[in-house]
Amino acid sequence: MAIKNIRTVEDNILKKVSKPVKEINDKIITLLDDMTDTMIDRNGVGLAAVQVGALRRVAIIDAPNTEEFGEDYDDEIIEMINPEILEINGQVIKNEGCLSIPGKAGTVSRPENLKVKFLNRDGESVIIEATGYRARAISHELDHLDGILFTDKVIEFTDNEK
Ligand code: ZN
Repeated sequence: MAIKNIRTVEDNILKKVSKPVKEINDKIITLLDDMTDTMIDRNGVGLAAVQVGALRRVAIIDAPNTEEFGEDYDDEIIEMINPEILEINGQVIKNEGCLSIPGKAGTVSRPENLKVKFLNRDGESVIIEATGYRARAISHELDHLDGILFTDKVIEFTDNEK
């Protein structure tokens, strides 16, 4: 387990499309563990593998199904390998930022809720429905896997608040 450097916006790797994971081997498990360490260290609500320099379709999420982190938030981290959005509903325009774009924030339209399918670290196929902050974070992280940054979709830049 290790804390990795987070690639920032001047690094072209962030514009690249990540490749599907063909086999969940030790390398992928280590990647997931390192991503978790890195996200926790940086107080993030999500992280895509490309942000630590791995062009693999892997993302992790640490955000609740509500708009704010309530006291009862269970701190569950969702690990997604080869995630695919199955369904999106509604749209919400809210402020967001990105660990790869320090010092910038802006409003972006994201799905109000969504359904996503992925493999967990045991190779099991999982489908979850997400709403609120979690839906926003999933949409943001999955964009990273396609080389899309929030600044590509921003409606209006704001301050550095999340
Ligand atoms: Zn980001």
